[in-house]
Amino acid sequence: MEESLDAIGEALSENGKVIVTGCLGAKEGVVAKVHPSVLAITGPHDTAGVMQAVHQHLPKPHDPYTDLIGVKLTPPHYAYLKISEGCNHRCTFCIIPSMRGDLVSRPIGEVAQEAENLVKAGVRELLVVSQDTSAYGVDVKYRTGFVGGKPVKTRMLDLCRALGDLGAWVRLHYVYPYPHVDDIIPLMAQGRILPYLDVPFQHASPRILKLMKRPASAEKVLERVRKWRSICPDITIRSTFITGFPGETEEDFSQLMQFIEEAQLDRVGCFAYSPVQGAAANGLPDPVPEDVKEERKQRFMLRQQEISRNKLQAKIGKTLKVLVDEPGVGRSSADAPEIDGVVRFKGGKPGEFVSVTIDRADEHDLYGRRL
Ligand code: SF4
Repeated sequence: MEESLDAIGEALSENGKVIVTGCLGAKEGVVAKVHPSVLAITGPHDTAGVMQAVHQHLPKPHDPYTDLIGVKLTPPHYAYLKISEGCNHRCTFCIIPSMRGDLVSRPIGEVAQEAENLVKAGVRELLVVSQDTSAYGVDVKYRTGFVGGKPVKTRMLDLCRALGDLGAWVRLHYVYPYPHVDDIIPLMAQGRILPYLDVPFQHASPRILKLMKRPASAEKVLERVRKWRSICPDITIRSTFITGFPGETEEDFSQLMQFIEEAQLDRVGCFAYSPVQGAAANGLPDPVPEDVKEERKQRFMLRQQEISRNKLQAKIGKTLKVLVDEPGVGRSSADAPEIDGVVRFKGGKPGEFVSVTIDRADEHDLYGRRL
């Protein structure tokens, strides 16, 4: 919650006009108390509330085509595609299921139609999001829907195939390492969807994962990562982790360090555990002192930064396909907007694909020449 409130503060100081929407907005008074100058606060799923606030504070441009697509608050060349809402898991540090309920998958025909409309409107990259992308369709028992008149099952593999046919980049977020995820890696190797997986592992100690009630078994994760890389050697794997979860011992933390050493993940975020009001984990014994949580986070990030840096260094001399976000700045298949690094070069127009030969790398970004 602290991070979200900080992000709102940053947006206010940079932009001045901020509308807050989502889980935090549903908690009465929390945002308004800390940031009384936000223009409006709405809860999750409240598209109408957001649009009303947007129209109240900004005149609505009339565009009959994009009006049909609905709200889209990203640059014109990429878009988030929400495929489901809610979650069937009950991770002990998370309150999303209590606020948004169990998984509800959107019909595959509707998702595919929205994706097609977006691509027709000029979107070059679709970012597939949900609370658990790999569980898509579980709630409707993988019911058959229709895409372009053809019967298609409501499940991740079929959705990836359908999206892969649209000719835009398709990037998957919030995928859990279930066995069936292996089936979509060949689509990445064939270039039909981006070779990029955002998999929130959170920890590597089986004991802590059990206390967290995380989906998917810990032991098989490394094996799975190796298998993905053997099918698609170019795959970029991004993940997030938590240090200092209640009960985490030095031994558990060592297992986490061992894991990142062996997994050699490309992109990693790490948070020191902070309790969320209403989360089951608050009742767990043996909380970890603040300084220990932080110190473990620092140790973790120091080592991971070295791994990530080496991974970026290995790209020097390669020529990468880059989607331009603004002149001189773009992203390769390995870089999701907002969360990963960028590729810097001279020239380019937003939404254009260019080829860039990499000359140099630092901790986060790549630098190169346009071919
Ligand atoms: S953290 Fe766990 S419970 Fe929360 S949305 Fe993700 S999978 Fe679901």
